[in-house]
Amino acid sequence: MATTSPPINSKVNAVPKAVDPTQFVDDPEHTPADANIPDNYVTYTLKHQKALPPVTWDNFVQNLNWLHVGILAFSPVLGFIGAYYTPLKWETGIWAVVYYYMTGLGITAGYHRLWAHRSYNASRSLQYALALFGAGAVEGSIRWWARGHRAHHRYTDTDLDPYNAHKGLFWSHIGWMVVKPRRKPGVADVSDLSKNNIVKWQHRHYIKLVFLMGVFFPTLVAGLGWGDWVGGYVYAGLLRLVFVHHSTFCVNSLAHWLGETPFDDKHTPRDHMVTALVTIGEGYHNFHHQFPMDYRNAIRWYQYDPTKWFIWVCQRLGLASHLKTFPENEVRKGQLTMELKRLRETQEKLSWPSDNSHLPVINWESYQAQAKTRPLICIAGFIHDVSDFLDDHPGGRHLLTKHIGKDATTAFFGGVYDHSNAAHNLLAMKRVGVLHGGAPHGLEDKTIPPSQRLRIASYNELSASGYSSAALSDGEGLMG
Ligand SMILES: [Zn+2]
Ligand SMILES: [Zn+2]
Repeated sequence: MATTSPPINSKVNAVPKAVDPTQFVDDPEHTPADANIPDNYVTYTLKHQKALPPVTWDNFVQNLNWLHVGILAFSPVLGFIGAYYTPLKWETGIWAVVYYYMTGLGITAGYHRLWAHRSYNASRSLQYALALFGAGAVEGSIRWWARGHRAHHRYTDTDLDPYNAHKGLFWSHIGWMVVKPRRKPGVADVSDLSKNNIVKWQHRHYIKLVFLMGVFFPTLVAGLGWGDWVGGYVYAGLLRLVFVHHSTFCVNSLAHWLGETPFDDKHTPRDHMVTALVTIGEGYHNFHHQFPMDYRNAIRWYQYDPTKWFIWVCQRLGLASHLKTFPENEVRKGQLTMELKRLRETQEKLSWPSDNSHLPVINWESYQAQAKTRPLICIAGFIHDVSDFLDDHPGGRHLLTKHIGKDATTAFFGGVYDHSNAAHNLLAMKRVGVLHGGAPHGLEDKTIPPSQRLRIASYNELSASGYSSAALSDGEGLMG
């Protein structure tokens, strides 16, 4: 059943009480970080907050973030050297892949869709599991990660977006972590996370959890499970970490670079199956930036989004609830807008007949006189010059010449031959004038060529031609 809001009453009978803004705030005790920012926050901050100078080859070393460089360089170097000396057991290989998905889901289903976007509710046990495995991906605490990610969504493609995709693929993938940030990310409220006990617990014990879940746990499983301590450390610990890192980093880089924009093309996020495959389903990023609180990234059943499937299974098991989805109607509006935009581009690449307002109005006598010097034929109130078509007319030249200086409307529309839509479209291209007092057969199907009966016009074009006058006919307003 559709729900409707109560109508706003235009007749004010009583003096209204002053609105108390706190009645709309869920926690009046707490002031969100962005509660008091000015309305021109983005432009003001970009203009007045000093940014560090751009990184160049000369200042590169001084600007490195050594902690991040250490983590991002240590794991692949040690991992690949270790792999060279350590034979891979099949059990360890399977475990590394499984643990890649577990820690990856800690980021995608936990850090991203649960905490950064609140796209569903999770039970305490699921939250603990996601917080632990998320720590095993070694990408910072939930609180730090979600704060940056909320700024990314809020200020996408600006310098207040920590991984601004306009700064290039390398920057959005890893560059933003390797060097010190050039400016602080834009303000984003994470007060909901500051109140969450599990998020607070993870933040407090983060370093211990990184060693426990990033290295110790995967090694322990392989060691106790099938006696492969070194293999567990190298493959399920280090190399698995390298893959989780670059897989999730692709959400910021590849997902803003490769693919289509089926929902909106205002910003860089894109949809692509390849990105989805490497990011555990986060590759439908154009959809995600349009509908960030939707628990899905992929909306079609055949699209690859294991994170969505995982959340859905958790719901079936009673571990997750309140899975949010945007109304299908609004999602389809975005798609339609983009389809129309593409069709409009196609439409604009074609040539169209002149419309009435750009054609000279000629009276019958003048038409007669001019038809003596060039082959003019009147059809449906328009005068056409058929000189370049006489020899191409499929019915033969004689059928055209016999109508020169005459009204051939009836003959064209079925009297002699019921012409095809393509013929009507082509005829309209030969318009050179409008017959004064003409268009006696002023029916749409005769005056408007078939290719123009459905056209894509912008709102401004419609209002300029008076189409939107209905929108102004507000009965109550006119009656005063
Ligand atoms: Zn993004
Ligand atoms: Zn997001």
